[in-house]
Amino acid sequence: MFGRAPKKSNNTKYYEVLGVPKNASPEDVKKAYRKAAIKNHPDKGGDPEKFKEVAQAYEVLSDPEKREIYDQYGEDAVKEVGGMGGGGGGGHDPFEMFQSFFGRQNGGPGGKRKGKDAVHALKVSLEDLYSGTSKKLSLSRNVICTKCTGKGSKSGASTMCFGCRGSGMKVSIRHLGPSMIQQMQHPCNECKGTGETMRDEDRCPQCKGDKVVQEKKVLEVHVEKGMQHGQKIKFPGQADEAPDTVTGDVVIVVTQKDHPKFKRKGDDLFAEQKLSLTEALCGFQFALTHLDGRKLLIKTNPGEVVKPGSFKALNDEGMPMYQRSFMKGMLYINFTVEFPDSLTTEQCRKLEGVLAERELPQLKDTEIDECEETTLHDASIEQLKRKDAQARAEAEAQEAYNEDDDMHGSGPQCAQQ
Ligand SMILES: [Zn+2]
Ligand SMILES: [Zn+2]
Repeated sequence: MFGRAPKKSNNTKYYEVLGVPKNASPEDVKKAYRKAAIKNHPDKGGDPEKFKEVAQAYEVLSDPEKREIYDQYGEDAVKEVGGMGGGGGGGHDPFEMFQSFFGRQNGGPGGKRKGKDAVHALKVSLEDLYSGTSKKLSLSRNVICTKCTGKGSKSGASTMCFGCRGSGMKVSIRHLGPSMIQQMQHPCNECKGTGETMRDEDRCPQCKGDKVVQEKKVLEVHVEKGMQHGQKIKFPGQADEAPDTVTGDVVIVVTQKDHPKFKRKGDDLFAEQKLSLTEALCGFQFALTHLDGRKLLIKTNPGEVVKPGSFKALNDEGMPMYQRSFMKGMLYINFTVEFPDSLTTEQCRKLEGVLAERELPQLKDTEIDECEETTLHDASIEQLKRKDAQARAEAEAQEAYNEDDDMHGSGPQCAQQ
């Protein structure tokens, strides 16, 4: 099993340390350890090395499995097994052993621990957040088994782990110096932090010893008017139940879906509206369907011209404010204007008749002759942006270079000032 030849030597030392015969009963081993541990505890003036030996001996001889390996293969084999067990890494601390044996948990966990919160995202539409709604959310959770009332065992007999006295945690104390003590908590290696050990035949038939069973639960989540993206709705004590644990909360996180028409910023709403050039110049009206289905008539005043990129606002048509839903934010409409791609000479002449005269001076033929012919073509915005970014990066690089230069030249410059 361990890839080593059985060794007959070095398998009596632990018995000698505790002062018990090789056929000592577990009770005798325990008694002997108790006596030796108290006698050799460094706090009572004992030898720390001897105390460590006693603890080590007891750790092995009190564990039937380890004792058997020790009897057969000796100390080295047991150490290897102990290392392989890996129960939190601190299984060999003599002080931790002492603590767990005598059950003194100075400053240990008092009272119940708090269970974890269960966090769920709830996707809602902007319409839901505008008008408020309620959603049913089906969740499955652990609840305390009713058959064994959370004991996990059929008989109801104590299943408490001896090693940690049922806490699932062990406290180890390390002496870092004459007056320095480090206290560390880690899961019990004997019960893997569950705080108990149970025989299979004693397991509760309903929960199989788990103490909890799964339950489907439907939560009714009230999404109130004006709730914000990321806002939390709590259901206290509705998360997984566990014995000796304060049940955590179910936390619903309101998550706002994108809307095709409206964007939200705080309590304000933003909508975009395209206009033709004629509409921008000569006026328009249209119906804007709001989040609650109302149709708002949006129109210009007579003679009003709407410029490209301009905003117009409606009071009290934004989002209702959370818990003050009688108050509402603003609704902003951002207008874009689509210009015609081309006009005929005839159309231009008509427009000139209506619109103001051209402002740029008309060139004479002789002046035109003095100029070079050019061709205008469409420039892509993306291309311009890319060039812009490139220029900025180059400027930054140049600046960094100059700073570097300044640093080297700073001596004489400072001296001149
Ligand atoms: Zn334990
Ligand atoms: Zn049960």
